[in-house]
This record gives sequence, structure tokens and C-alpha cells, in this order.
Amino acid sequence: MTFATATPSAERTLAESELKWGNSFARLGPDFYTELQPTPLPSPYWVGRSHALARELGLEDQWLESDYALALLTGNQLAAGSRPLASVYSGHQFGVWAGQLGDGRAILLGDIATNAGPREIQLKGAGRTSYSRMGDGRAVLRSSIREFLCSEAMQGLGIPTTRALCVTGSDAAVRREEFETAAVVTRTAPSFIRFGHFEHFSYSNQHAQLKTLADHVIDRFYPACRDAKQPYAALLEAVSERTAHLMAAWQAVGFCHGVMNTDNMSILGLTIDYGPFQFLDAFDPGHICNHSDSEGRYAYNKQPNMAYWNLFCLAQALLPLMDNQEQALAALESYKTVFPEALHARMCAKLGLLDAQPEDAALIESTFRLLASNKVDYTIFWRRLCSFTPQSGHEPLRDLFFDGESFNAWALQYSERLTPVDSGLRADLMLKSNPKFVLRNHLGEEAIRAAKLKDFSAVNTLLTLLQAPFDEHPGHEHFAAFPPDWATSIEISCSS
Ligand code: AMP
Ligand code: MG
Repeated sequence: MTFATATPSAERTLAESELKWGNSFARLGPDFYTELQPTPLPSPYWVGRSHALARELGLEDQWLESDYALALLTGNQLAAGSRPLASVYSGHQFGVWAGQLGDGRAILLGDIATNAGPREIQLKGAGRTSYSRMGDGRAVLRSSIREFLCSEAMQGLGIPTTRALCVTGSDAAVRREEFETAAVVTRTAPSFIRFGHFEHFSYSNQHAQLKTLADHVIDRFYPACRDAKQPYAALLEAVSERTAHLMAAWQAVGFCHGVMNTDNMSILGLTIDYGPFQFLDAFDPGHICNHSDSEGRYAYNKQPNMAYWNLFCLAQALLPLMDNQEQALAALESYKTVFPEALHARMCAKLGLLDAQPEDAALIESTFRLLASNKVDYTIFWRRLCSFTPQSGHEPLRDLFFDGESFNAWALQYSERLTPVDSGLRADLMLKSNPKFVLRNHLGEEAIRAAKLKDFSAVNTLLTLLQAPFDEHPGHEHFAAFPPDWATSIEISCSS
């Protein structure tokens, strides 16, 4: 008789030791979700992996290389203890009540413990759910690469976001405007709960469930609200503040989300659901990045107001838990002060003003006006500004402007403001506040074109640059350059 002396394979050991599934969302009860199995993705292959995120999750590089991980993170195999589910939510889409929506193509596998607290792991594109309506439950390679790269780019920029551990692809055909191929994005977040989850239970008069949901969110993510006189008003105020900070971060970096429906608003103030998003190329305050948004509801300069509109919907949804309407309205007030203050602080940092003053609002305003009237590339302007000194001729910067006189007047105003500011510290602050690399549409497009031919090198290069977007990365100037002419013809719609 022979004994099996070999230790279990490394893959098995890692799989068993690293992934202990919890499912705190499942404990909310069956009114909140439907349990179901992911639909296997035929013959999956790796497209991109974030080893940085894997490490944060406590997963070793070796694990993320394994076939077991590939099967698990596409939904082709289930780990013991995982209880996959799709959650139900509703929402306002483009200003109109849309009724029940839900995770039509997202499946929550459960949560795992990490050093930073529990993280939910969700598959996007792993097949139909009870909430798929007319959809096929799939996501295409194109949009999955965009979501993967942008999630990790936002993290690199220091902007709150859901994360993306990997994208896996398959040759299985998916029908959109034309035939494309399927992919799965494996996302993580402390929670994927949206404003729309609250709207769902409120508008369907399931107020006990509404309370259960609010208590879950407070206990897990906003514990300080529990001690407030009115915990639900405190929750609304805390969400308003996080959302205000998020909007300030988006506006400062020039990020357009594109589909700020209430079902795409995270209760944790994270950027969520990357669809037709865009980082501004030439600065145009009214820029609309979503080709399907004919009215420009979610134009760049409308985002802060749209976030407030969405918070108002959340407030309405929470009314059954409040003492009166005034309480809800009062809780929203903080947005109106936190957003402008947070944006002011971010813009002052971009300008290198170490000692931000309220009077700097005028300089910020004139900077935006100048950028808009000269249609200046937003990211390149700020990065070049890092080398500005009052004494220099401002050459590389001035080249960005066709109206030299306006630029000179502005440069004078800025130079005067810089007089008391230490130039070394200022440059440090600016280089940390003005990224060199953002995920411009054309860069994503180039990586997608190559990926469709099974060349994933551009996805990986972009990932490396975007995870450290404030670093110089010598030799990669192409990725920090002006967009090519064809970039303006890229049309990104809701189709994904
Ligand atoms: P989105 O615009 O991506 O935020 O999606 C809005 C709603 O449509 C959500 O409930 C999604 O789950 C659902 N949805 C979008 N695309 C699909 C699809 N291909 N299959 C099923 N549901 C989808
Ligand atoms: Mg969505």
C-alpha cells in the first residue's frame, strides 16, 4: 500500500487558505436577492490582471496565475462556501423613474476578509439573472477592458472607486450593434449597494426591508451614524459628504462618468459602473461623453448638480425612516458646502497653492475660463503647469494657447499669487496633484483593438502606467501625448 505523501498542490492550498467566503449581503434575506449560478464562460483566457489589487486582497501572485483562479474568477467553478446571488434594485434613469432593475449581469460571489476589511467579489458579465430583463447577462471585451483599466486608474489617482481584479475573455460571440466577444470583469468593493437599492424598497412599500438595508449599511460602513440622534438622517448626511468629495475629485481630474443614474450611484461614494466615461481631452465644460445622452443631462459641468439630484432621490427613499421631511432636507445641506470646499482644495493643490485661501476662487475661475476659451488639453495643461515659474518664459505652456494675450494676463495673475509660495514645495504638490497619465478614450481604444487580436500587451502597459499616473515613466511619452485627430470620432454609448 502506498501513502499519498505529497502535500496538496500549491493551487489547492492557496485556494483553500486564501478564499474563505463570507456573505454578509446574503444575510439580509431573500427579499434582497436571488441565489443563482453563474453561466460558464466558454474556454476563458486572461486578458488583464491587477496584481496590485490581488496583493491587497491577500492573494499571492502565484494564485492569480493559476487555472483554478481563472475558473473561479470567470464563474466557471465555485469555491466552497460561496453563495452566488444577484441583488435587486431600482432607479431613476435619465431623470425618469425606471422601476425595478437589479443586477442584470452582475453576480456577487460573496465577500472575503482582507487587511482592509471585508471585500465583496462580483462577476460582471457572468450570465443572465432574474433581473436581466431583455439582456443577455453578458459584457463585451471592449467595455470590460475599459472598466478594468479605469477602475485601477481611478485608484491610482486616489479617487474612490470599485476595483477590478481581472478581465477574462472568451471567443463566445455576443450580439451588440455588431457581433463582439464576451468577457467577465471581476470587481471588488466593500459593498456594491447603490442609491437604487434604497429606492427599490422604499417605492415598493417594503419599509421593514428598507430599515434592514439602512441598518446594514450603517453598521458595516458608517458606524458613527449609529450614535447620532437620528441615525438615518446622519447616514444621508454622511453619504452626501462622501458624494460631494467624489464629485470634487471627478471635476478636478476632468472625469465624465456618462451615466449618473441613481442605480449607478454607490452608497459608499465610490465611482461605480464604468460605461461611456471619458477623461476630458480639450477642456469643454459642456462636454457630453455618452453618445446616448442626447440632452446632455450628464455633461461634465452638470455632474455636481446631478449628484445632488440623485442624493435628493436617496433622501426621498429614506423618508419613511425619518421623523419628517425637514430632517431629510437638512441632511442634504452638507453637500452644498462640502462640494465647493472640496473642489476648491483640489484646484488649489493643482495650482500649487500650499496656503489655499478663499480669495483663490477668482484665480481658479479665470483658469477654467482661459482653458475653455482656448480649448486647451486639460491633462497636459496641468502637467506642464508643474514646471511654471514666474521668472521663466512659460514656453511649453504658452504653446497650448492660441490667444497669447489672455494667457499672458493669466500668467501675470498666477505669478503674483505665487510670490509667497515656496517653489520646491509647490512643484512637489503639483506633481502629486496633476497626473501625467489618464485613460484617454483613444488609449483605451488602441488597447482594445490589439486585445481583439489577442495581443494584451497594451492593456498591461496601460495598467502599469495608470496605476502610478503621477510618475514620469520615461519612454512612455506616447501615452501622455495629445490625442490623435481620430480620437474625436470615437463614439461611446451605453452599449456594453
Ligand atoms: P447600466 O446602464 O450598465 O448601469 O445598466 C442598467 C441596467 O441594465 C442594470 O440593471 C443592468 O444590470 C442591466 N443591463 C445592462 N446590460 C445588460 C445585459 N447585457 N444583460 C442584462 N442586463 C443588463
Ligand atoms: Mg449600472
